[in-house]
Amino acid sequence: MRATDLHTHSAVSDGTETPTALIEQARLAGLDIVALTDHDTDRGIAEAREAASSAGLGLLPGMEVSAKHHGRSIHILALGNTPAPGSDFALKLNEVRDSREKRAQHIVERLGEDFPITWEAVLEIASGRGVSVASVGRPHIADALTRAGVVTGRAEAFETMLAPHSPYYVPYRALEAAEAIAGIHASGALAVGAHLMTVKRGKGLSSDACQELVESGLDGFEVFHREHGEAERAALVEIAHERGLIVTGGSDYHGSGKPNRLGENTTSEESLERILEATSARL
Ligand code: AMP
Ligand code: ZN
Ligand code: FE
Ligand code: FE
Repeated sequence: MRATDLHTHSAVSDGTETPTALIEQARLAGLDIVALTDHDTDRGIAEAREAASSAGLGLLPGMEVSAKHHGRSIHILALGNTPAPGSDFALKLNEVRDSREKRAQHIVERLGEDFPITWEAVLEIASGRGVSVASVGRPHIADALTRAGVVTGRAEAFETMLAPHSPYYVPYRALEAAEAIAGIHASGALAVGAHLMTVKRGKGLSSDACQELVESGLDGFEVFHREHGEAERAALVEIAHERGLIVTGGSDYHGSGKPNRLGENTTSEESLERILEATSARL
């Protein structure tokens, strides 16, 4: 039985380590297989693959795609393949990343009126982690606020000035769920709903909403995730069983950006085999 973690982030998005360092941490944690799933970008995959190959680990290519369902923000894991360069989906993801960056600049402009924070400081942190950042997010702003002594860390920033109800908050353009799932399928990957029933206040989807995503082509659910309690796991497993979906688990590791530890949640051999078979991924 291989130890498999199918949800991790590097500093190519909002994790804090290079893909190489992440793979080294995965080896130390006793993992055999890791999916690198940075937000809306696959730019770290090549480096991760090389590091995994040297470390004797398997690397499953992946991405965590930002989407919306009835106007609510959701995340969808693309597992097993990445979009062809220049493909429709790759171009849409470029737009999403551009929108993320403009939105982050906008948030920083608003924050800058009340707090000692600048866009330059955010970029310095985001790009100072040994790899060029492709996908900018609120965590980078949180890190700049932390360095400036405004908050104690990402958690506090997300509870206060970066929360969606905050006057400083600005949304970005995510894809419609059906559009994201179609793009993921066009890349030859499987689409797995990430932490869809998160217990975070007001953010979890109902069983009916999860069923609707299955109608839109979702292939599986990430069941084993720290933001799912027993009730959420049971509800998702029930739908997955009824509809023949794949069930996955992962840590959602962000380096030092979150308490999540590599391997704290894992994916079964059976699910891994199904993903490998459906995507012809080579580890
Ligand atoms: P964004 O991509 O800009 O919408 O920011 C969302 C990202 O922030 C997600 O990937 C989360 O992992 C991260 N995040 C959300 N809440 C927290 C928190 N309380 N502490 C640290 N990171 C968080
Ligand atoms: Zn993240
Ligand atoms: Fe997520
Ligand atoms: Fe994530």
